[in-house]
Amino acid sequence: MPMERKEFIKKLIMYGGAGLFMLSGGSLLLQACAPQAGRNEETVDEVWRPAYAKLAAQGELEDRVNMFYKIMESCELCPRRCRVNRLEGERGFCQAPGKAVVYSHQPHFGEELPLVGQRGSGTIFFSNCNLRCVFCQNWPIAHLGWGSTVSDEELADMMINLQVMGCHNINLVTPTHVLPNIVGAVKIALEKGLHIPLCYNTSGYELVSIIKMLDGIIDIYLPDLKFMDGVEAERYNLAAAYDYPEKAMQSIAEMHRQVGDMVTNKENIALSGLMIRHLVMPNRVAGTEDFTRWVADNLSTETYVNIMAQYRVEYKAFEYEEIARAITTEEFVEAIEWARDAGLTNLDQRSLAQYEIRKTLVD
Ligand code: SF4
Repeated sequence: MPMERKEFIKKLIMYGGAGLFMLSGGSLLLQACAPQAGRNEETVDEVWRPAYAKLAAQGELEDRVNMFYKIMESCELCPRRCRVNRLEGERGFCQAPGKAVVYSHQPHFGEELPLVGQRGSGTIFFSNCNLRCVFCQNWPIAHLGWGSTVSDEELADMMINLQVMGCHNINLVTPTHVLPNIVGAVKIALEKGLHIPLCYNTSGYELVSIIKMLDGIIDIYLPDLKFMDGVEAERYNLAAAYDYPEKAMQSIAEMHRQVGDMVTNKENIALSGLMIRHLVMPNRVAGTEDFTRWVADNLSTETYVNIMAQYRVEYKAFEYEEIARAITTEEFVEAIEWARDAGLTNLDQRSLAQYEIRKTLVD
């Protein structure tokens, strides 16, 4: 059972980090239930184990590590398909080397509430990016590559440290181009006692064939769906990702096939499932109305959807007239109303709270 913060700190001091693993024994006793109270009265007691632990028990995790590293020899980890040998020091569009580069790893309290809980989401920010938007909110990390190179063993230790700190999950931010390193590190970390959910936090610019290789490894998928129109995706990307909507929608459909809708424990902490983010942009360039309809028609009306209001004019966005301003109150209000009209019933609670406040300003 998850500990309260006070109890956690007390045990941390008393036993040191290793003692915490012994408390859990590599699994968590919990109750799986529907994401929101009252949505589904049924609850099921079970011993929950992360997907990657089950795959390892079947003897398949090591094979996946080898398969991912093989792809890095002629890199086709993402739709850019650079075909460079990153293990020999060549670099492609993302500029990432063969080893992972990490900007930071820390408990993060700014993510969605089912990820944050009481003790934070164990966030690992990877440097570099395979998409590279002109309005990137993390551009020093994603575009300039700020960070330190780490081995798979060091990355595994970061995961373990985040678990020891009490984080509810390992949240892999911008993971696509470092997937071999991540899967290699997960295998090592599992042997050291990793047992919390693995969350794949991606821009959505993915190859569906690569997402299929993650089946049985990832517990929670957290993709963006940034654009619904290839012309807009091309315009606001440094390297013309016209195929972004197609690739993202194909990949998200596969993610949903693998993990389904979000499942939480009885404290409403996410254990598995799909959670989608969509950033509302000025002048409707993100295609928010189409986004809400696509989710309802192609996934499920119970998909956890976070419609985000925090667009800021960052990086090169000042050079593009249509996106060189914050969104208006009206633009955010219409976005939430489109989601409701589409029948989406599991909208992020903080977005809904913002909607209620902003709606009073529009009325
Ligand atoms: S991960 Fe990087 S090197 Fe590999 S295909 Fe994508 S952009 Fe190119």
